[in-house]
Amino acid sequence: MLHKVIIIGTGPAGLTAALYTARANLKPLIFEGPQPGGQLTITTDVENYPGFPDGIMGPDLMNNFRKQAQRFGAETLNFMVDSVDFSSKPFKVTAGSKEYQAESIIISTGASARLLGLENERKLMGYGVSACATCDGFFFKDKEVFVIGGGDSAMEEATFLTKFASSVTIVHRRNEFRASKIMQDKALSNEKIKVIWNAEVVDLIGEPNKNGLEKVILKDTVSKDETIYKIDGLFLGIGHIPNSHIFKKYLNLDDKGYILTQPDSTKTSIDGVFACGDIQDKIYMQAVTAAGTGCMAAIDTEKYLEDLH
Ligand code: NAP
Repeated sequence: MLHKVIIIGTGPAGLTAALYTARANLKPLIFEGPQPGGQLTITTDVENYPGFPDGIMGPDLMNNFRKQAQRFGAETLNFMVDSVDFSSKPFKVTAGSKEYQAESIIISTGASARLLGLENERKLMGYGVSACATCDGFFFKDKEVFVIGGGDSAMEEATFLTKFASSVTIVHRRNEFRASKIMQDKALSNEKIKVIWNAEVVDLIGEPNKNGLEKVILKDTVSKDETIYKIDGLFLGIGHIPNSHIFKKYLNLDDKGYILTQPDSTKTSIDGVFACGDIQDKIYMQAVTAAGTGCMAAIDTEKYLEDLH
């Protein structure tokens, strides 16, 4: 069966594209991916999505997005896309060992948390090491934790963790944060938060099947001295990596791997393939901007299909 449009990814961008293409009677087929609902499903209160004056929980917001798209006939499949073939038309998408074909594609696969790249980091992930304070903060009640990074994510995670942890130490590799002033001020004025400047993590010590993470070794970037700290938890807040791996053979990406779209449009370097949300936005990265570009992608797709027929 030839689909008019296949949407890959179900964060705010993909599900908004689904809503709009469904209402345009394009009967979109949507692949949910490894984290249905996207990054908002691992957050708690969302207070900056317009229309919810009292805030809304991230998972509830994404359930609403999905239900709204499904109400107009969007079909969601709980599969991860393994590969795509954009070399000829119709475009091909392989998921769950089956091939699907479509006249147009909307990519909304978002971005994932960046890791430090240490061997023990992977080993201890979920055993004291986490890339999501909102998911795992609860497990660190009255514990001492480190947050790595100096951007808005690190400030936000550190502030959030003070709800649970007895002390939160932000470890940053330079002597100034890149976070916005308002977020820095909020974090630095919190009496539970301390900062270690000019320090990078060189190793993590602990065993997953014993006590998990127990110590972290930091190296002072100026003096080069190494210090061992006893800690209970370590949270990574060092940015994100776009989930563009399966597309890089076909589409133009920037040097960080974000899909390049044409100005004022969601068009990629292949006619009929569109991209929206965090996979093409490394600046704003907000649910509302992702939803906005999802709407743009749906309108661009509708126009493309109209011109095709
Ligand atoms: P970011 O701005 O890229 O900051 C990443 C931080 O991690 C930087 O301080 C960087 O250090 C550090 N870092 C990167 N790789 C590292 C490594 N290997 N080892 C140690 N440190 C490392 O990422 P982000 O904080 O996730 O923010 C991304 C975007 O989302 C920004 O535009 C931000 O404003 C936005 N955001 C907004 C909100 C909000 O408004 N509520 C919340 C979160 C994020 P250097 O500074 O030395 O490069």
